[in-house]
Amino acid sequence: IQVNGAPIFKQDKRWQGVVLVFHDITGLKRLEQMRKDFVANVSHELRTPITSIKGFSETLLDGALEDRDMTEQFLGIMLKESTRLETLIHDLLELSKIEREGFRLSISELNMTDLVNDTVTLVEEQAKKKDIEIISDLETDVRYTGDATRLRQVFLNLISNAITYTPEKGSVEVRLEEQKDEVRVEVIDTGIGIPEEEIPRIFERFYRVDRARSRNSGGTGLGLAIVKHIMEAHGGSIQVKSEPGEGSVMTLIFHKESS
Ligand code: ADP
Repeated sequence: IQVNGAPIFKQDKRWQGVVLVFHDITGLKRLEQMRKDFVANVSHELRTPITSIKGFSETLLDGALEDRDMTEQFLGIMLKESTRLETLIHDLLELSKIEREGFRLSISELNMTDLVNDTVTLVEEQAKKKDIEIISDLETDVRYTGDATRLRQVFLNLISNAITYTPEKGSVEVRLEEQKDEVRVEVIDTGIGIPEEEIPRIFERFYRVDRARSRNSGGTGLGLAIVKHIMEAHGGSIQVKSEPGEGSVMTLIFHKESS
């Protein structure tokens, strides 16, 4: 709360009292704090890979270059960290584009079944590496009016998360069904799950339940923030059900009348 005060004097100049005006600036302060936190987070996230790339290149120049195995190992890390920077910058730009006022979807008549199918194909390689089975149970020829590129991004983020947070030999199921006035996409995994109190936070920018695990898998902590924005832009929503140690269910709901 911000307080402004002014003294009041009587006509004979004798002091009478004070007027105090209280402004509730909690909302503004919170926004300002969020902006500061975001800038601090971005700086930290950018600095980490740069520090690593710098450190390894210095070590190579200091003589490690003589050792072929070490050189290969260090170059591998440097490549991984550069890729990480690239992904991070890409996701940050995406997020800023989507959050900008006046952001517009590029709407067209879509075949959701094809769209989800394409995404499943994209992640097959990632799943195979972990021996994870992808079961896809899609109603045929589901139509929806939306932004194909953005929706592909939503499906990719969810299915790819499901694979990332599921241990080897688990399974990920993708379902698509059409009801009278809505289209539902469900991504069900047999993964590590999310503690109930963390569920509302996973849509925050840079929030991760387990930072190390996310980082190791190349995560930026921005994926679900992007998903949430895209869903809202479509007038849809996302629901999360999860049981730690059992798995998670992410449900996307698209309303047909608002499409
Ligand atoms: P990240 O790049 O870290 O995956 P996201 O924004 O996509 O970022 O997700 C935020 C966090 O939510 C993740 O770090 C992870 O802790 C949690 N999370 C997302 N999807 C799942 C899932 N299917 N199972 C378990 N945890 C998940």
